[in-house]
Amino acid sequence: MNLTRRLTFALTLIGCGVLVLSALLEMRVDWQRAQDESHEAHVLLGRVLNGAVSRSARFEGLEQALFHLDEANRYQQRVHVRWVWLDAPEGSSFAPLLPASALAPVREGHELFAELDSVASPTFVSYSPLALGGRPGAIELQGALGSRQEHLQRGVLLVASGTIALALLFFLAASAIGRRLVGRPVEALMRMADRVGKGDLDARVALKRPDELGRLAEVLNGMAVSLQRARAALVEESRARVAALEQLRHSERSSTVGKLAAGVAHELGTPLGVISLQAQSIASGEGGLDEARADARVIDQQAKAMARIVRQLLEFSRRHPPERQPQPLEPVVSTALEVLRPVAQPKGVELRFQPAGAHVVNVDAAQVQQVVTNLVVNAVQASAAGQVVTLALDETEATAPADAGGAHGRWVRLTVKDEGEGIEPEALPHVFEPFFTTKDVGEGTGLGLSVSWGLVREHGGWMTAASEPGKGATFTVYLPVEVTT
Ligand code: ADP
Repeated sequence: MNLTRRLTFALTLIGCGVLVLSALLEMRVDWQRAQDESHEAHVLLGRVLNGAVSRSARFEGLEQALFHLDEANRYQQRVHVRWVWLDAPEGSSFAPLLPASALAPVREGHELFAELDSVASPTFVSYSPLALGGRPGAIELQGALGSRQEHLQRGVLLVASGTIALALLFFLAASAIGRRLVGRPVEALMRMADRVGKGDLDARVALKRPDELGRLAEVLNGMAVSLQRARAALVEESRARVAALEQLRHSERSSTVGKLAAGVAHELGTPLGVISLQAQSIASGEGGLDEARADARVIDQQAKAMARIVRQLLEFSRRHPPERQPQPLEPVVSTALEVLRPVAQPKGVELRFQPAGAHVVNVDAAQVQQVVTNLVVNAVQASAAGQVVTLALDETEATAPADAGGAHGRWVRLTVKDEGEGIEPEALPHVFEPFFTTKDVGEGTGLGLSVSWGLVREHGGWMTAASEPGKGATFTVYLPVEVTT
Protein backbone atom coordinates (compact mmCIF):
# COMPACT_ATOMS: atom_id res chain seq x y z
CA MET A 1 0.00 0.00 0.00
CA ASN A 2 1.49 3.35 -0.96
CA LEU A 3 1.95 6.31 1.33
CA THR A 4 -1.03 8.33 0.10
CA ARG A 5 -3.41 5.39 0.51
CA ARG A 6 -2.10 4.65 4.01
CA LEU A 7 -2.43 8.27 4.99
CA THR A 8 -5.95 8.38 3.58
CA PHE A 9 -6.94 5.23 5.46
CA ALA A 10 -5.45 6.51 8.69
CA LEU A 11 -7.21 9.87 8.37
CA THR A 12 -10.51 8.24 7.44
CA LEU A 13 -10.25 5.90 10.41
CA ILE A 14 -9.49 8.73 12.80
CA GLY A 15 -12.32 10.80 11.32
CA CYS A 16 -14.79 7.92 11.67
CA GLY A 17 -13.64 7.22 15.21
CA VAL A 18 -14.18 10.83 16.24
CA LEU A 19 -17.55 10.85 14.53
CA VAL A 20 -18.77 7.66 16.22
CA LEU A 21 -17.55 8.86 19.62
CA SER A 22 -19.23 12.22 19.35
CA ALA A 23 -22.47 10.55 18.14
CA LEU A 24 -22.43 8.12 21.09
CA LEU A 25 -21.89 11.01 23.45
CA GLU A 26 -24.75 12.91 21.90
CA MET A 27 -26.99 9.83 22.18
CA ARG A 28 -26.17 9.52 25.85
CA VAL A 29 -26.94 13.16 26.51
CA ASP A 30 -30.15 12.75 24.51
CA TRP A 31 -31.23 9.78 26.57
CA GLN A 32 -30.43 11.58 29.81
CA ARG A 33 -32.48 14.56 28.66
CA ALA A 34 -35.41 12.31 27.79
CA GLN A 35 -35.18 10.69 31.20
CA ASP A 36 -35.16 14.10 32.92
CA GLU A 37 -38.12 15.28 30.89
CA SER A 38 -40.01 12.10 31.68
CA HIS A 39 -39.24 12.55 35.38
CA GLU A 40 -40.58 16.08 35.36
CA ALA A 41 -43.70 15.07 33.48
CA HIS A 42 -44.36 12.18 35.86
CA VAL A 43 -43.94 14.38 38.94
CA LEU A 44 -46.17 17.06 37.52
CA LEU A 45 -48.86 14.65 36.42
CA GLY A 46 -48.61 12.74 39.72
CA ARG A 47 -49.12 15.91 41.73
CA VAL A 48 -52.10 17.08 39.67
CA LEU A 49 -53.76 13.66 39.87
CA ASN A 50 -52.91 13.41 43.58
CA GLY A 51 -54.78 16.65 44.31
CA ALA A 52 -57.74 15.61 42.14
CA VAL A 53 -58.04 12.09 43.64
CA SER A 54 -57.70 13.44 47.15
CA ARG A 55 -60.49 15.98 46.53
CA SER A 56 -62.72 13.50 44.72
CA ALA A 57 -62.29 10.88 47.46
CA ARG A 58 -63.24 13.43 50.05
CA PHE A 59 -66.39 14.66 48.26
CA GLU A 60 -67.49 11.70 46.08
CA GLY A 61 -66.05 8.74 47.88
CA LEU A 62 -63.12 6.38 47.24
CA GLU A 63 -64.69 4.36 44.45
CA GLN A 64 -65.62 7.41 42.40
CA ALA A 65 -62.15 8.90 42.92
CA LEU A 66 -60.48 5.70 41.61
CA PHE A 67 -62.89 5.64 38.68
CA HIS A 68 -61.86 9.19 37.71
CA LEU A 69 -58.24 8.19 38.01
CA ASP A 70 -58.75 5.27 35.63
CA GLU A 71 -60.53 7.63 33.25
CA ALA A 72 -57.27 9.62 32.92
CA ASN A 73 -55.87 6.72 30.82
CA ARG A 74 -58.44 7.32 28.14
CA TYR A 75 -57.17 10.77 27.21
CA GLN A 76 -53.54 9.91 26.72
CA GLN A 77 -51.48 6.82 25.91
CA ARG A 78 -47.97 7.81 26.89
CA VAL A 79 -48.41 7.27 30.60
CA HIS A 80 -50.50 4.56 32.23
CA VAL A 81 -52.10 5.76 35.46
CA ARG A 82 -53.11 3.30 38.21
CA TRP A 83 -54.08 3.35 41.88
CA VAL A 84 -52.01 1.07 44.10
CA TRP A 85 -52.23 0.14 47.79
CA LEU A 86 -48.81 0.06 49.34
CA ASP A 87 -49.86 -2.77 51.61
CA ALA A 88 -51.59 -4.81 48.85
CA PRO A 89 -50.31 -8.39 48.72
CA GLU A 90 -48.23 -9.42 45.77
CA GLY A 91 -50.38 -10.58 42.84
CA SER A 92 -53.32 -8.37 43.76
CA SER A 93 -54.58 -5.95 41.06
CA PHE A 94 -53.68 -3.02 43.37
CA ALA A 95 -50.13 -4.24 44.06
CA PRO A 96 -47.43 -1.77 42.90
CA LEU A 97 -45.10 -2.71 40.05
CA LEU A 98 -42.02 -2.07 42.18
CA PRO A 99 -41.30 -4.52 45.02
CA ALA A 100 -42.18 -3.40 48.53
CA SER A 101 -38.50 -3.06 49.42
CA ALA A 102 -38.08 -0.33 46.81
CA LEU A 103 -41.13 1.59 48.03
CA ALA A 104 -39.87 2.64 51.48
CA PRO A 105 -39.60 6.36 50.51
CA VAL A 106 -43.21 6.31 49.23
CA ARG A 107 -44.42 4.81 52.48
CA GLU A 108 -42.70 7.73 54.22
CA GLY A 109 -44.66 10.17 52.03
CA HIS A 110 -42.06 10.95 49.38
CA GLU A 111 -42.50 10.87 45.63
CA LEU A 112 -40.48 8.19 43.78
CA PHE A 113 -39.30 8.01 40.20
CA ALA A 114 -37.56 4.88 38.95
CA GLU A 115 -36.67 2.95 35.86
CA LEU A 116 -38.06 -0.52 35.40
CA ASP A 117 -35.08 -2.45 34.18
CA SER A 118 -36.51 -5.89 34.31
CA VAL A 119 -39.05 -5.36 31.54
CA ALA A 120 -37.98 -6.07 27.96
CA SER A 121 -38.56 -2.51 26.90
CA PRO A 122 -37.51 -0.37 29.86
CA THR A 123 -39.99 2.21 31.03
CA PHE A 124 -40.24 4.68 33.87
CA VAL A 125 -42.44 4.29 36.88
CA SER A 126 -43.26 6.89 39.49
CA TYR A 127 -45.29 7.02 42.66
CA SER A 128 -47.15 9.93 44.19
CA PRO A 129 -48.11 8.91 47.78
CA LEU A 130 -51.64 9.48 49.08
CA ALA A 131 -53.34 7.93 52.14
CA LEU A 132 -57.03 7.28 51.58
CA GLY A 133 -59.25 6.37 54.50
CA GLY A 134 -56.17 5.90 56.63
CA ARG A 135 -54.73 3.23 54.24
CA PRO A 136 -51.35 4.00 52.50
CA GLY A 137 -51.70 4.17 48.77
CA ALA A 138 -50.18 5.93 45.80
CA ILE A 139 -50.85 6.96 42.26
CA GLU A 140 -48.56 4.86 40.03
CA LEU A 141 -47.56 6.33 36.69
CA GLN A 142 -45.96 3.97 34.25
CA GLY A 143 -44.84 5.42 31.03
CA ALA A 144 -42.34 5.38 28.29
CA LEU A 145 -41.20 8.16 26.10
CA GLY A 146 -40.33 5.56 23.51
CA SER A 147 -38.25 2.55 24.45
CA ARG A 148 -34.52 2.80 24.94
CA GLN A 149 -33.98 0.11 22.33
CA GLU A 150 -35.95 2.06 19.78
CA HIS A 151 -34.04 5.12 20.78
CA LEU A 152 -30.77 3.24 20.43
CA GLN A 153 -31.69 1.64 17.14
CA ARG A 154 -32.64 4.97 15.67
CA GLY A 155 -29.40 6.50 16.98
CA VAL A 156 -27.20 3.66 15.70
CA LEU A 157 -28.86 3.80 12.29
CA LEU A 158 -28.33 7.51 12.15
CA VAL A 159 -24.72 7.30 13.29
CA ALA A 160 -23.94 4.41 10.94
CA SER A 161 -25.40 6.03 7.85
CA GLY A 162 -23.82 9.36 8.75
CA THR A 163 -20.46 7.72 9.39
CA ILE A 164 -20.51 5.76 6.13
CA ALA A 165 -21.46 8.82 4.10
CA LEU A 166 -18.86 10.95 5.81
CA ALA A 167 -16.19 8.23 5.59
CA LEU A 168 -16.80 7.95 1.86
CA LEU A 169 -16.62 11.68 1.41
CA PHE A 170 -13.58 11.90 3.64
CA PHE A 171 -11.86 9.06 1.83
CA LEU A 172 -12.43 10.61 -1.59
CA ALA A 173 -11.30 14.04 -0.44
CA ALA A 174 -8.30 12.72 1.48
CA SER A 175 -7.09 10.52 -1.38
CA ALA A 176 -7.43 13.38 -3.88
CA ILE A 177 -5.62 15.80 -1.59
CA GLY A 178 -3.11 13.17 -0.47
CA ARG A 179 -2.25 12.33 -4.05
CA ARG A 180 -1.76 15.99 -4.90
CA LEU A 181 0.14 16.91 -1.75
CA VAL A 182 2.12 13.73 -1.10
CA GLY A 183 1.71 11.03 -3.76
CA ARG A 184 2.80 12.90 -6.87
CA PRO A 185 5.69 14.84 -5.28
CA VAL A 186 7.03 11.68 -3.61
CA GLU A 187 6.83 9.82 -6.94
CA ALA A 188 8.77 12.65 -8.62
CA LEU A 189 11.39 12.54 -5.85
CA MET A 190 11.67 8.76 -6.16
CA ARG A 191 12.10 8.97 -9.95
CA MET A 192 14.83 11.55 -9.47
CA ALA A 193 16.63 9.48 -6.79
CA ASP A 194 16.37 6.43 -9.03
CA ARG A 195 17.94 8.27 -11.98
CA VAL A 196 20.74 9.63 -9.79
CA GLY A 197 21.26 6.10 -8.41
CA LYS A 198 21.69 4.84 -11.99
CA GLY A 199 24.33 7.48 -12.60
CA ASP A 200 22.25 10.11 -14.44
CA LEU A 201 23.50 13.17 -12.57
CA ASP A 202 21.67 15.56 -14.95
CA ALA A 203 18.40 14.50 -13.32
CA ARG A 204 16.57 17.30 -11.47
CA VAL A 205 13.19 17.42 -9.79
CA ALA A 206 11.00 20.53 -10.28
CA LEU A 207 9.12 20.83 -7.01
CA LYS A 208 8.69 24.42 -5.87
CA ARG A 209 6.86 24.08 -2.57
CA PRO A 210 7.31 25.79 0.75
CA ASP A 211 7.14 22.52 2.72
CA GLU A 212 9.37 19.58 3.69
CA LEU A 213 8.97 17.88 0.31
CA GLY A 214 9.97 21.10 -1.44
CA ARG A 215 13.05 21.30 0.76
CA LEU A 216 13.82 17.64 0.12
CA ALA A 217 13.65 18.35 -3.62
CA GLU A 218 16.08 21.26 -3.17
CA VAL A 219 18.44 19.03 -1.18
CA LEU A 220 18.25 16.27 -3.82
CA ASN A 221 18.91 18.74 -6.63
CA GLY A 222 21.83 20.19 -4.66
CA MET A 223 23.14 16.69 -4.08
CA ALA A 224 23.00 15.93 -7.82
CA VAL A 225 24.90 19.16 -8.57
CA SER A 226 27.56 18.30 -5.96
CA LEU A 227 27.87 14.78 -7.32
CA GLN A 228 28.19 16.16 -10.83
CA ARG A 229 30.99 18.48 -9.70
CA ALA A 230 32.70 15.71 -7.77
CA ARG A 231 32.49 13.41 -10.78
CA ALA A 232 33.92 16.08 -13.09
CA ALA A 233 36.75 16.66 -10.60
CA LEU A 234 37.35 12.92 -10.39
CA VAL A 235 37.41 12.53 -14.17
CA GLU A 236 39.82 15.46 -14.43
CA GLU A 237 41.97 14.06 -11.64
CA SER A 238 42.18 10.59 -13.14
CA ARG A 239 42.88 12.11 -16.57
CA ALA A 240 45.76 14.06 -15.02
CA ARG A 241 46.98 10.92 -13.24
CA VAL A 242 46.85 8.87 -16.43
CA ALA A 243 48.75 11.64 -18.25
CA ALA A 244 51.35 11.82 -15.47
CA LEU A 245 51.70 8.05 -15.42
CA GLU A 246 52.04 7.99 -19.19
CA GLN A 247 54.68 10.69 -18.95
CA LEU A 248 56.50 8.72 -16.27
CA ARG A 249 56.41 5.59 -18.37
CA HIS A 250 57.71 7.48 -21.34
CA SER A 251 60.60 8.96 -19.35
CA GLU A 252 61.40 5.53 -18.03
CA ARG A 253 61.24 4.12 -21.55
CA SER A 254 63.57 6.87 -22.78
CA SER A 255 65.96 6.05 -19.96
CA THR A 256 65.88 2.37 -20.99
CA VAL A 257 66.47 3.40 -24.61
CA GLY A 258 69.53 5.27 -23.36
CA LYS A 259 70.76 2.10 -21.69
CA LEU A 260 70.08 0.11 -24.83
CA ALA A 261 71.76 2.67 -27.07
CA ALA A 262 75.27 1.71 -25.99
CA GLY A 263 74.60 -1.90 -26.86
CA VAL A 264 72.96 -0.95 -30.13
CA ALA A 265 75.87 1.31 -31.07
CA HIS A 266 78.18 -1.62 -30.46
CA GLU A 267 75.91 -3.86 -32.54
CA LEU A 268 75.93 -1.36 -35.39
CA GLY A 269 79.73 -1.14 -35.30
CA THR A 270 80.33 -4.53 -36.96
CA PRO A 271 77.98 -4.08 -39.96
CA LEU A 272 79.25 -0.52 -40.36
CA GLY A 273 82.83 -1.81 -40.51
CA VAL A 274 81.85 -4.42 -43.09
CA ILE A 275 79.98 -1.82 -45.19
CA SER A 276 82.95 0.50 -45.03
CA LEU A 277 85.36 -2.24 -46.18
CA GLN A 278 83.10 -3.35 -49.03
CA ALA A 279 82.54 0.24 -50.12
CA GLN A 280 86.31 0.85 -50.13
CA SER A 281 86.78 -2.31 -52.21
CA ILE A 282 84.22 -1.08 -54.77
CA ALA A 283 85.70 2.42 -54.78
CA SER A 284 89.22 1.09 -55.45
CA GLY A 285 87.90 -0.37 -58.72
CA GLU A 286 90.38 -3.22 -58.33
CA GLY A 287 87.98 -6.09 -58.69
CA GLY A 288 85.82 -6.74 -61.66
CA LEU A 289 82.14 -5.98 -62.05
CA ASP A 290 81.15 -9.31 -60.50
CA GLU A 291 83.19 -8.65 -57.39
CA ALA A 292 81.67 -5.13 -57.11
CA ARG A 293 78.21 -6.71 -57.36
CA ALA A 294 79.03 -9.21 -54.60
CA ASP A 295 80.35 -6.36 -52.42
CA ALA A 296 77.17 -4.35 -53.04
CA ARG A 297 75.07 -7.35 -52.00
CA VAL A 298 77.04 -7.63 -48.75
CA ILE A 299 76.56 -3.88 -48.20
CA ASP A 300 72.80 -4.34 -48.79
CA GLN A 301 72.60 -7.25 -46.31
CA GLN A 302 74.51 -5.33 -43.65
CA ALA A 303 72.45 -2.18 -44.20
CA LYS A 304 69.26 -4.25 -43.77
CA ALA A 305 70.62 -5.78 -40.56
CA MET A 306 71.39 -2.26 -39.27
CA ALA A 307 67.96 -1.03 -40.32
CA ARG A 308 66.36 -3.90 -38.38
CA ILE A 309 68.30 -3.03 -35.22
CA VAL A 310 67.44 0.65 -35.52
CA ARG A 311 63.80 -0.17 -36.25
CA GLN A 312 63.58 -2.35 -33.14
CA LEU A 313 65.04 0.43 -31.03
CA LEU A 314 62.66 2.99 -32.50
CA GLU A 315 59.78 0.61 -32.05
CA PHE A 316 60.68 0.26 -28.39
CA SER A 317 60.93 3.97 -27.73
CA ARG A 318 57.74 4.90 -29.57
CA ARG A 319 54.66 5.80 -27.59
CA HIS A 320 51.80 3.40 -28.33
CA PRO A 321 48.23 3.62 -27.22
CA PRO A 322 47.69 0.52 -25.06
CA GLU A 323 46.19 -2.26 -27.10
CA ARG A 324 45.49 -5.60 -25.49
CA GLN A 325 44.76 -8.81 -27.29
CA PRO A 326 44.90 -12.47 -26.39
CA GLN A 327 48.22 -13.85 -27.61
CA PRO A 328 50.87 -16.37 -26.66
CA LEU A 329 53.47 -14.76 -24.40
CA GLU A 330 56.50 -16.56 -25.80
CA PRO A 331 56.96 -14.52 -29.05
CA VAL A 332 56.42 -11.31 -27.08
CA VAL A 333 59.30 -12.20 -24.72
CA SER A 334 61.52 -13.45 -27.58
CA THR A 335 61.14 -10.18 -29.49
CA ALA A 336 62.19 -8.19 -26.40
CA LEU A 337 65.19 -10.43 -25.95
CA GLU A 338 66.37 -9.73 -29.49
CA VAL A 339 66.68 -6.05 -28.69
CA LEU A 340 68.41 -6.92 -25.41
CA ARG A 341 71.11 -9.20 -26.72
CA PRO A 342 73.32 -6.27 -27.82
CA VAL A 343 73.17 -5.04 -24.21
CA ALA A 344 74.17 -8.39 -22.70
CA GLN A 345 76.80 -9.40 -25.20
CA PRO A 346 79.39 -6.64 -24.58
CA LYS A 347 79.28 -7.52 -20.85
CA GLY A 348 79.78 -11.18 -21.56
CA VAL A 349 76.42 -12.05 -19.99
CA GLU A 350 74.44 -14.84 -21.57
CA LEU A 351 70.66 -14.58 -22.01
CA ARG A 352 68.76 -17.86 -21.88
CA PHE A 353 65.11 -18.37 -22.58
CA GLN A 354 63.37 -21.71 -22.27
CA PRO A 355 59.78 -21.26 -23.35
CA ALA A 356 57.46 -24.11 -22.44
CA GLY A 357 54.14 -24.26 -24.24
CA ALA A 358 51.88 -21.56 -25.64
CA HIS A 359 50.71 -19.58 -22.63
CA VAL A 360 48.00 -17.29 -23.90
CA VAL A 361 47.46 -14.02 -22.08
CA ASN A 362 45.40 -10.95 -22.88
CA VAL A 363 48.14 -8.32 -22.99
CA ASP A 364 49.51 -5.27 -24.69
CA ALA A 365 52.68 -6.73 -26.26
CA ALA A 366 54.64 -3.44 -26.15
CA GLN A 367 53.93 -3.03 -22.42
CA VAL A 368 54.97 -6.60 -21.61
CA GLN A 369 58.15 -6.05 -23.64
CA GLN A 370 58.81 -2.93 -21.57
CA VAL A 371 58.51 -5.02 -18.38
CA VAL A 372 60.81 -7.76 -19.76
CA THR A 373 63.35 -5.13 -20.89
CA ASN A 374 63.42 -3.49 -17.45
CA LEU A 375 63.92 -6.81 -15.69
CA VAL A 376 66.60 -8.07 -18.12
CA VAL A 377 68.50 -4.74 -18.21
CA ASN A 378 68.58 -4.76 -14.37
CA ALA A 379 69.69 -8.42 -14.34
CA VAL A 380 72.43 -7.75 -16.90
CA GLN A 381 73.60 -4.69 -14.98
CA ALA A 382 73.83 -6.76 -11.78
CA SER A 383 75.65 -9.65 -13.48
CA ALA A 384 79.34 -10.16 -14.05
CA ALA A 385 80.96 -11.51 -17.21
CA GLY A 386 80.29 -15.21 -17.75
CA GLN A 387 77.09 -15.22 -15.71
CA VAL A 388 73.72 -16.25 -17.11
CA VAL A 389 70.36 -14.48 -17.02
CA THR A 390 67.61 -17.10 -17.36
CA LEU A 391 64.04 -16.40 -18.43
CA ALA A 392 61.38 -19.05 -17.91
CA LEU A 393 57.72 -19.16 -18.81
CA ASP A 394 55.17 -21.56 -17.33
CA GLU A 395 51.75 -21.78 -15.71
CA THR A 396 51.06 -22.18 -11.99
CA GLU A 397 48.32 -22.11 -9.40
CA ALA A 398 48.66 -19.23 -6.95
CA THR A 399 46.80 -16.70 -4.82
CA ALA A 400 47.33 -13.05 -5.64
CA PRO A 401 48.40 -10.80 -2.73
CA ALA A 402 45.68 -8.68 -1.14
CA ASP A 403 46.82 -5.47 -2.87
CA ALA A 404 46.45 -7.27 -6.22
CA GLY A 405 42.90 -8.49 -5.58
CA GLY A 406 43.65 -11.71 -3.63
CA ALA A 407 42.20 -13.96 -6.36
CA HIS A 408 43.12 -17.62 -6.38
CA GLY A 409 43.54 -19.42 -9.68
CA ARG A 410 45.90 -20.28 -12.51
CA TRP A 411 48.44 -17.72 -13.65
CA VAL A 412 51.05 -17.48 -16.39
CA ARG A 413 54.39 -17.05 -14.66
CA LEU A 414 57.44 -15.38 -16.19
CA THR A 415 60.67 -15.49 -14.16
CA VAL A 416 63.84 -13.54 -14.79
CA LYS A 417 66.68 -15.00 -12.74
CA ASP A 418 70.26 -13.81 -12.58
CA GLU A 419 73.40 -14.88 -10.75
CA GLY A 420 74.55 -11.36 -9.99
CA GLU A 421 75.19 -9.35 -6.86
CA GLY A 422 71.66 -9.75 -5.51
CA ILE A 423 69.66 -7.28 -3.42
CA GLU A 424 70.36 -6.39 0.23
CA PRO A 425 67.50 -7.48 2.58
CA GLU A 426 66.88 -3.85 3.65
CA ALA A 427 66.59 -2.74 0.01
CA LEU A 428 64.38 -5.63 -1.13
CA PRO A 429 61.04 -4.27 0.23
CA HIS A 430 61.67 -0.96 -1.59
CA VAL A 431 62.65 -2.07 -5.09
CA PHE A 432 59.14 -1.51 -6.52
CA GLU A 433 58.92 2.02 -5.06
CA PRO A 434 59.22 4.88 -7.54
CA PHE A 435 62.66 6.55 -7.60
CA PHE A 436 64.23 3.86 -5.42
CA THR A 437 67.65 3.19 -6.89
CA THR A 438 71.03 2.00 -5.66
CA LYS A 439 72.71 2.99 -8.89
CA ASP A 440 74.88 6.02 -9.49
CA VAL A 441 73.39 9.27 -10.70
CA GLY A 442 72.84 9.03 -14.46
CA GLU A 443 72.80 5.25 -14.34
CA GLY A 444 69.54 4.58 -12.63
CA THR A 445 66.26 6.47 -12.36
CA GLY A 446 64.59 4.14 -9.88
CA LEU A 447 61.53 4.03 -12.14
CA GLY A 448 61.99 0.76 -14.03
CA LEU A 449 60.50 -1.62 -11.48
CA SER A 450 57.75 0.74 -10.27
CA VAL A 451 56.58 1.36 -13.83
CA SER A 452 56.76 -2.39 -14.56
CA TRP A 453 54.75 -3.10 -11.40
CA GLY A 454 52.07 -0.61 -12.54
CA LEU A 455 51.90 -2.16 -16.00
CA VAL A 456 51.56 -5.69 -14.63
CA ARG A 457 48.86 -4.56 -12.16
CA GLU A 458 46.93 -2.98 -15.02
CA HIS A 459 46.94 -6.38 -16.68
CA GLY A 460 45.39 -7.90 -13.56
CA GLY A 461 48.62 -9.52 -12.39
CA TRP A 462 51.38 -8.85 -9.87
CA MET A 463 55.16 -9.09 -9.43
CA THR A 464 57.47 -10.42 -6.75
CA ALA A 465 61.18 -10.03 -6.07
CA ALA A 466 63.39 -12.49 -4.22
CA SER A 467 67.10 -12.40 -3.64
CA GLU A 468 69.93 -13.82 -1.68
CA PRO A 469 72.71 -11.23 -1.57
CA GLY A 470 75.72 -12.38 -3.58
CA LYS A 471 73.76 -15.19 -5.23
CA GLY A 472 71.52 -13.25 -7.58
CA ALA A 473 67.94 -12.11 -7.78
CA THR A 474 64.74 -13.56 -9.18
CA PHE A 475 61.87 -11.39 -10.40
CA THR A 476 58.56 -13.11 -11.13
CA VAL A 477 55.66 -11.71 -13.13
CA TYR A 478 52.18 -13.28 -12.76
CA LEU A 479 49.60 -12.62 -15.46
CA PRO A 480 46.05 -13.96 -15.60
CA VAL A 481 45.62 -16.94 -17.90
CA GLU A 482 43.35 -15.98 -20.79
CA VAL A 483 40.39 -18.32 -20.70
CA THR A 484 39.70 -19.38 -24.27
CA THR A 485 36.23 -20.77 -24.87
P1 ADP B 1 66.92 1.55 -11.62
O1 ADP B 1 67.34 0.32 -12.35
O2 ADP B 1 66.83 2.76 -12.50
O3 ADP B 1 67.71 1.82 -10.35
P2 ADP B 1 64.64 0.02 -10.97
O4 ADP B 1 63.33 0.40 -10.43
O5 ADP B 1 64.65 -0.78 -12.20
O6 ADP B 1 65.45 1.34 -11.11
O7 ADP B 1 65.40 -0.80 -9.85
C1 ADP B 1 65.43 -0.33 -8.54
C2 ADP B 1 66.55 -0.94 -7.75
O8 ADP B 1 66.33 -2.34 -7.56
C3 ADP B 1 67.87 -0.88 -8.44
O9 ADP B 1 68.52 0.34 -8.23
C4 ADP B 1 68.63 -2.03 -7.78
O10 ADP B 1 69.15 -1.64 -6.54
C5 ADP B 1 67.53 -3.05 -7.49
N1 ADP B 1 67.52 -4.12 -8.51
C6 ADP B 1 66.61 -4.29 -9.46
N2 ADP B 1 66.86 -5.43 -10.16
C7 ADP B 1 67.96 -5.98 -9.62
C8 ADP B 1 68.72 -7.17 -9.88
N3 ADP B 1 68.40 -8.04 -10.86
N4 ADP B 1 69.77 -7.44 -9.08
C9 ADP B 1 70.11 -6.60 -8.08
N5 ADP B 1 69.45 -5.46 -7.79
C10 ADP B 1 68.39 -5.14 -8.54
